[in-house]
Amino acid sequence: MPNAPKAKPPKGGPATTASPGPEKGGAHRPPPSRYGPGFATLAVHAGARPDPATGARATPIYQTTSYVFDDADHAASLFNLEAFGHIYTRIMNPTQAVLEERVAALEGGTAGLAVASGHAAQQIVFHTLMAPGDEFVAARQLYGGSINQFGQAFLKYDWHVRWADGTEPASFEAALSERTKAIFIESIANPGGIVIDIEAIARIARDAGVPLIVDNTLASPYLCRPRDFGADIVVHSLTKYLGGHGNSIGGIVVDCGTFDWLGSGRYPTLSEPCPSYHGIRFAETFGDFAFAMAARTLALRDLGPAISPMNAFLILTGIETLPLRMEKHVANALAVAEWLAAHPKVAWVNYPGLEDSPYHVLARKYCPRGAGACYSFGLKGGYEAGVALVSRVELFSHLANIGDTRSLIIHPASTTHRQLSSEERARAGAGDDVVRISVGIEDVEDIIADLDQALAAL
Ligand SMILES: *Cc1c(COP(=O)(O)O)cnc(C)c1O
Repeated sequence: MPNAPKAKPPKGGPATTASPGPEKGGAHRPPPSRYGPGFATLAVHAGARPDPATGARATPIYQTTSYVFDDADHAASLFNLEAFGHIYTRIMNPTQAVLEERVAALEGGTAGLAVASGHAAQQIVFHTLMAPGDEFVAARQLYGGSINQFGQAFLKYDWHVRWADGTEPASFEAALSERTKAIFIESIANPGGIVIDIEAIARIARDAGVPLIVDNTLASPYLCRPRDFGADIVVHSLTKYLGGHGNSIGGIVVDCGTFDWLGSGRYPTLSEPCPSYHGIRFAETFGDFAFAMAARTLALRDLGPAISPMNAFLILTGIETLPLRMEKHVANALAVAEWLAAHPKVAWVNYPGLEDSPYHVLARKYCPRGAGACYSFGLKGGYEAGVALVSRVELFSHLANIGDTRSLIIHPASTTHRQLSSEERARAGAGDDVVRISVGIEDVEDIIADLDQALAAL
């Protein structure tokens, strides 16, 4: 059902992440490879085609709840998953379908499923994998909201998180049990400026026979492609860099098509006959996009967090400039980090793009184009100084978001992480002295001037 048959996602995804660069040979240049468009080309074109009804070149906002069936047989085949097509916008929508195909192409996956928020994407993934009493292992260096979702909300489903240290791959192995169904990490961890060793943790997941889920929100597929390092499922908060303009909430699940659900036999939703759909086995019927199909036609159908067509359109428009924005974000982020590191009121700067960061080597491996634009630094004045700084900035906006064109600032201990115990805060990289910034794409001189005046007043 994700797309009409002609729009079925390409198996294995695109061949390259990066543009091949200018070619030599002038007139003898070969025609571009049909199967290997570069990242910037995919960011503009993947999944989109002129509207068949009107020729509209931009993807239309299909602001409709439902779609007329050709006849009763057509309706029956749609409901049986025997034909691909639209039924109802809670399950899919043509604007959403373009967004899904585009992000899947950028991540090198087989299919995507866009939903209402990043948290909804996580909920949908675990609903597809877990049964009551099951466990999963997650890095404790996560977005604060994910710590709450995993540690508290999921308990109501009897799903249990076991925390590991994202900076110590061996700790994931130690947290495995018979009931472990997945490992979950962020690529660049929020908010601490930590880069996780994806390949080392992927090896542990493979040996344990469980999928590795990577939240790639802070890196975006432009800076890091987790599938290349062994991820099986990638999730995003589209709210951040992919949408990029701070105007819509959304999330996405990307199926990398790499996990053998039938061979594993530990995921009955994917491998056993499904009573909801006349006994089909998802893994058998849908092959390397079975996870995305089950997530859509079972979890999204029954839990309901659909993305609106308008938000899908705004996020799709944002993605067209992702490479341009990320280049500017990371260049500004590095310049600001270097400036902060030399400031007398700043105790430390945790930016993996700085050569003295303990994560610099990992950043060069996993994010060679730049270590993101969201990181933390410590104020010598502690909690009081953090509160004062966020009150005095003028260009920076004091709010709870990241990945906007605008520069943003927050003091996690008094806001996003205040529900956690002070021990949990410190372990999540959000201690009392920590300030987190998301460096925008304004002129870097103006960003630095604003921090300069606010720090001078402390
Ligand atoms: C924001 C965020 C989320 C949650 O996404 P929402 O769209 O706010 O639901 C998850 N993970 C990370 C890393 C985030 O930054």
